[in-house]
Amino acid sequence: MPQKLLISTRNPHKLREIMAILEGSGVELVSLEAFPDAHDVVEDRPTLEGNAAKKAEELFALTGLHTMADDTGLEVDALAGAPGVRSARFAGDEADAAANRRLLLERLAAADDRRARFRTVIALTTPQGTRFFEGTCEGVITREERGHGGFGYDPIFRPDGHAETFAEMDAATKNAISHRGRALAAFADALLRGEVRP
Ligand code: IMP
Repeated sequence: MPQKLLISTRNPHKLREIMAILEGSGVELVSLEAFPDAHDVVEDRPTLEGNAAKKAEELFALTGLHTMADDTGLEVDALAGAPGVRSARFAGDEADAAANRRLLLERLAAADDRRARFRTVIALTTPQGTRFFEGTCEGVITREERGHGGFGYDPIFRPDGHAETFAEMDAATKNAISHRGRALAAFADALLRGEVRP
């Protein structure tokens, strides 16, 4: 019988990216669309690990399926790691991505140290408990927006070793070096090696 793994996201872009990477891992992927009544998990923990685990554990309890969930934050050195776990709501609970980017550029207006990293944490919950996988992408916050691709902070994040921001790259180039791509690769690797068994 195929092993099943619930991917706890309602974001179709994320789902496609995850499915492409986990294809061939021998696991039957199930999306949250199969559970239309599942509640939205409140992401109120103070860490990425806490939020990812909360999502995976609540949905495992609800569905009985082994579940993976992810959480991502942008950690800026000059801001002591902010916005971090609050990246989606940096400029306020109702703020959109453009407002979050504007606030970040404002806060860094006088900063010479512009180092930052995206960090993605994946939690996998099975009857054996919860395990974590991580991916990071190091880079700098630019002085102005560049590019129209991607989402979130992409127009103001330039990864190390590249002249373009994430928003100036095509999706395949970004996915190959991104925090989420790397966390997913670590997760897929563990699945393929049989180190974790959904
Ligand atoms: P989530 O955990 O993937 O929902 O990400 C939380 C927030 O981090 C998002 O709302 C975005 O602001 C930001 N973020 C996550 N991943 C990326 C990315 O790949 N590029 C730019 N911003 C991102």
